[in-house]
Amino acid sequence: MSFDDILALRQRIDAINGQMLGLLSERGDLVRRIGAIKTREGLEKFDPLRESEELEALLPRNRGPFDDATVRYLFTEIFRASLDLMEHQEAEVLKVSRRHKQADTVFSVGGAVFGGPEPVVVAGPCSVESEEQVRRVAAALAEAGAKVLRGGAFKPRTSPYAFQGLGAKGYEILARVAREFGLVSVSEVMEVAAIPMAESIDILQVGARNMSNFKLLEAVGKSGKPVLLKRGLAATCEEFLLAAEYLIAGTGRIVLCERGIRTFERWTRNTLDISAVPLLTMQSHLPVIVDVSHAAGRTDILVPLARAAVAAGAHGVMVEVHPAPAFALSDQTQQIDLAAFAEFAKAVKEAGAAYRTHSARSSQG
Ligand code: PEP
Ligand code: MN
Repeated sequence: MSFDDILALRQRIDAINGQMLGLLSERGDLVRRIGAIKTREGLEKFDPLRESEELEALLPRNRGPFDDATVRYLFTEIFRASLDLMEHQEAEVLKVSRRHKQADTVFSVGGAVFGGPEPVVVAGPCSVESEEQVRRVAAALAEAGAKVLRGGAFKPRTSPYAFQGLGAKGYEILARVAREFGLVSVSEVMEVAAIPMAESIDILQVGARNMSNFKLLEAVGKSGKPVLLKRGLAATCEEFLLAAEYLIAGTGRIVLCERGIRTFERWTRNTLDISAVPLLTMQSHLPVIVDVSHAAGRTDILVPLARAAVAAGAHGVMVEVHPAPAFALSDQTQQIDLAAFAEFAKAVKEAGAAYRTHSARSSQG
């Protein structure tokens, strides 16, 4: 056995390494295809049964010299790496993700800037009830320097007997009053057929109950209008971003809105998932805002929640405002009156200034 023999054997090993790498890559490509199907179908990525089946099929074919335990160990490592590949593939390819686009998405609609350093305030009644009602709220927004007027025309109500909204007339009122006060309008669309009715609305909202209505998302995206997408009642952050991905084919102007998720807690209507704010802003380049009204379902904690949202890096907040909340036709308990709104807007402005000072300080090291 000479040194030349060793060299020749090493060359064969190098060739085998190359073949093994080629096979690993091919295996990885197949794993990714499976991952894409599983994501689409909402299936769990990890399948322990499948892994043990693969090992059971392999071990009887082990002719040595490696013993079964070693073969098992090596393949388990491959399985682990494959699972990692599956779990990270969306984050890598999603157009809404930072991996696709590093810089923050910042856009203006009328005078409102989403994704910029100043937190944007989206405010208005839960439901559009009358022109007079919307006008009073719009005047309070203009006075406080808020730029975006919300108001539901078609309402997703839990009870079929509850007020369902004014429909197309609600859109007309909201758009007209917003224009009159130099504000930007935002209102929910609940079905594809209603999108043309919302032509006069500046920003289309997709509500929590429709976050997973993929045909609606596609159609709303195709409208080309800016979209305010709310997180589903029981949606994970990953599912939320995947929903936004449906929109991005048609429009890049998307605002993600955390609005509380369902938990066992009953002192609030939902639980504001504050961790979603830094997580979403880390994972995605899109602006993130927080709807404190639907998160809390009550008015006495809205200011601290809004402060927390801004301190966590939210690009804005949404709050429901009504001239006489006790007489509102929907969501009475979570709408603030006009005087409380002035205070709320001031608190958000201050929280924004504090956040900017803090960020400037921490970026200076
Ligand atoms: C709304 O903002 O009017 C609304 C119905 O909110 P959500 O979809 O978050 O429940
Ligand atoms: Mn509401």
